[in-house]
Amino acid sequence: MSHDTMLQRALTRLVDAGKHLNIDPTILEKWEFQAMATLFDNTLERLIEAAEHLDLDPGVLENLKNALEMTQARLTIRMDDGSTKCFMAFRCRYDDSLGPTKGGIRFHPHVDADEVMALALMMTSKCAVMALPFGGAKGGVKVDPRDLSNMERERLSRAYIRAFAHVIGPDRDIPAPDVGTNEKTMAWMMDEYSTIVGKRAPAVITGKPVALGGSLGRDDATARGAYYIMQNKAHTLGLERRARVAIQGFGNAGMHMAQLLDAAGYKIVAASDSKGAVHAPAGFDIGELLAAKRCGSVINMAGSAGVSEIPGDKLVAVDCEVLVMAALENMVHKGNAGSIKAGLIVELANGPVTPEADEILKAMNVVILPDILANAGGVTVSYFEWVQNREGDRWTLDHVHSRLKTAMEKEAEAVWAYARDKNITLRTAAYVLALLRLVHAIY
Ligand code: GLU
Repeated sequence: MSHDTMLQRALTRLVDAGKHLNIDPTILEKWEFQAMATLFDNTLERLIEAAEHLDLDPGVLENLKNALEMTQARLTIRMDDGSTKCFMAFRCRYDDSLGPTKGGIRFHPHVDADEVMALALMMTSKCAVMALPFGGAKGGVKVDPRDLSNMERERLSRAYIRAFAHVIGPDRDIPAPDVGTNEKTMAWMMDEYSTIVGKRAPAVITGKPVALGGSLGRDDATARGAYYIMQNKAHTLGLERRARVAIQGFGNAGMHMAQLLDAAGYKIVAASDSKGAVHAPAGFDIGELLAAKRCGSVINMAGSAGVSEIPGDKLVAVDCEVLVMAALENMVHKGNAGSIKAGLIVELANGPVTPEADEILKAMNVVILPDILANAGGVTVSYFEWVQNREGDRWTLDHVHSRLKTAMEKEAEAVWAYARDKNITLRTAAYVLALLRLVHAIY
């Protein structure tokens, strides 16, 4: 693993020393986790591993080891009480060989330059694996949006666009929602950008409300893309009707996935969010679970017949056939990978499984539907939205669904076939196919 930071080295020493003392193991585990490679290291490692399967011009990989453009800004906004507050904000355009760069904007307290860069690299691979005419980007603000009022969120969203208006643009870099942002955020951002450029510019951002040029079907596209692959590959994956599913992260993607899978006959047996987790071995009533979430958290289900509350970090170990990871990165790591009982992991989040956990899960014969393919339905429908905006067109929901289904099944089939031929994991195959497309553009 490359360039350890001084902080990581210091933490490793602290963990080693701590092992000789009577220190709470959970504290040690936390230090150990922080001493691990950064998310960017992990993401790059996957690309480098895939490159080993190809006879690549070294210049191509050299290009992909570094971001094209990384911009950082300090956003100062007026709070409702009259005070001012500063927030650090980022936008990384990782690579534009395949087209204008594309990727969401995240509002989360853990956002930093490394994370944004890693996620931008993932977007580069994701757009390439889906054969979209886009490069990869990502943005973020280090903030807990739940601490802000609606008006403060609006001021922050508009401040973000004022700071990055020179970076983004319908032909240059097109943001979208990500963790902590939604269609309302996109509406404010599009409006601010339109004011700056002096004309309506809906194609500058995707994931907008339908009334402002958003696409039908964008709201559940991330979950639906993964769902189409699961249904198409159900036989190969050995998925039977009533297969049991646990969902880590009951946010936008997780909730839509639960609804789609429940309607298709799967049984949702566990769900978690930032407040905790609930387990119903006989399966949840999906309507009740969604209602509990809308009232604040899935843990509102605890105490209902057949439902028990479990620690949030135990959700991955629940007895089930499918584990859907729909929260944040690094949730399955070497400390908990061995406890997983599911035979299939669906990565609806970006980077939920660390490379070390990948190795453990491979030895356990757990199949992983990798993020850059599994959650690519979101950016694929974002692409449809961008096309509609540029053409001044409106597609029907049926048209969006059928194009999404065709695209997901086609690229999934290519990944599957490559993995089978070369006897490699679906993740490595997805990265190899992404690289092959990038190579043709870069070389
Ligand atoms: N944030 C989403 C992702 O990580 C969507 C990006 C987009 O639609 O541009 O794929």
